[in-house]
Amino acid sequence: MPQAWPNVEWTDARREQVRQLWEAGFTAGQIARRLDIGVTKNAIIGLVHRNGFVRPLSRKKPRKPTPTKKKRAAPKQPRPVAVHVTPPPPPPPPTPIGELTIDELQEHHCRWPTGDSPFRFCGDHRRDGSSYCDTHHRRGTHG
Ligand SMILES: [Zn+2]
Repeated sequence: MPQAWPNVEWTDARREQVRQLWEAGFTAGQIARRLDIGVTKNAIIGLVHRNGFVRPLSRKKPRKPTPTKKKRAAPKQPRPVAVHVTPPPPPPPPTPIGELTIDELQEHHCRWPTGDSPFRFCGDHRRDGSSYCDTHHRRGTHG
């Protein structure tokens, strides 16, 4: 007399449980025992196949990176001589206002002589229509 197929009620919860166990890597026999509802290993296998449960393939070990070719010993090179690069000298600071020489004096500079020796000029931005900056223009007209 053939063994009666156990009348298992495959509820969604049980099916889900089987799926999870199957995907976790349990064998059909282990799952059958775990469910403890009287199902056989074959019943589990049948369920797995009917529902198309698959074991994830992500258990594969990550591929080892392909070994790089043997490194050829680099030919010995003479040690590079440490070259001390001297940074370029900073640009000279702009001539401060009030100390422009006649050579440095430009069109837009105030020509008010500051009276130092050698002769220096104000050099501030001159006022429109005047040869001097605001300060010296006022001084020139009032003083
Ligand atoms: Zn000036």
